[in-house]
Amino acid sequence: MSPKRVLVTGASRGIGQAIARKLAQCGYDPVLHCRSGIDRLTALTAELAPLGCSGTCLQFDCADREATAAAITEDIEHNGCYYGVVCNAGIADDAPFPILEGDMWDRVLRTDLDGLYNVLKPIVMPMISARIRGRIVALSSVSGLVGNRGQVNYSAAKAGIIGAVKALAVEVAKRGITVNAIAPGIIETDMTAELPLEEVRSAIPMRRLGKPEEVAGLVAFLLSEEAAYITRQVISVNGGMF
Ligand code: NDP
Repeated sequence: MSPKRVLVTGASRGIGQAIARKLAQCGYDPVLHCRSGIDRLTALTAELAPLGCSGTCLQFDCADREATAAAITEDIEHNGCYYGVVCNAGIADDAPFPILEGDMWDRVLRTDLDGLYNVLKPIVMPMISARIRGRIVALSSVSGLVGNRGQVNYSAAKAGIIGAVKALAVEVAKRGITVNAIAPGIIETDMTAELPLEEVRSAIPMRRLGKPEEVAGLVAFLLSEEAAYITRQVISVNGGMF
């Protein structure tokens, strides 16, 4: 039997790259996606080839509904349905609310929240039609659960993801498809590279940032057979932040 295909959006860096690696190590065939980091994706493809991965790469801006649907639909038609999808691609664009401009609000909402819809829409019906008891995992954030200063746009998008995940989970539960969100705290990636580290660490009971691999491990579990009865949940990976 060929390995199960799992689309990982935003696999060129950070958490998405760690997820793609972990899924390959667990015997899945990750379908790798990026917006601009195609060179990094090509390097990852070469790294994962010895694990039996097909090296399928997709490149699109997940805020662009038509481009996203076209790329995903073409891949499904040529290579088959996905067993799973990890909606990981995302951005932050932080500012205190008085200087949070409209384009910062739009860009973050379009990428992080509309992007979830744009990616899932062309995937879910084929998954249902093929009777795949599949897995959907979306990256939310601690910011979507408690709200972070300077992140009104990001908190709104990440809270929106939680609502969407919970509603979709109810709709597809009887098909055996699970839908869950992961809410990381502060993880060491490009996204957090410019944060004031001492201040950040003091806000985390474990006194350290999380590693991308510590999020990837949870994704792998949620994709596993053992997690078949876990759905409509938000699971935090945050070193005890709240
Ligand atoms: P990075 O900034 O390291 O990587 C972001 C990834 O998303 C890249 O692969 C990037 O592709 C892709 N991406 C960004 N914008 C778009 C777009 N418009 N269309 C398609 N792909 C896009 O982020 P992290 O690894 O830190 O974060 C991954 C996810 O986890 C995000 O959803 C983030 O919000 C969430 N998260 C992260 C936390 C953290 O502390 N790091 C905490 C909580 C949640 P490319 O390289 O091609 O630009």
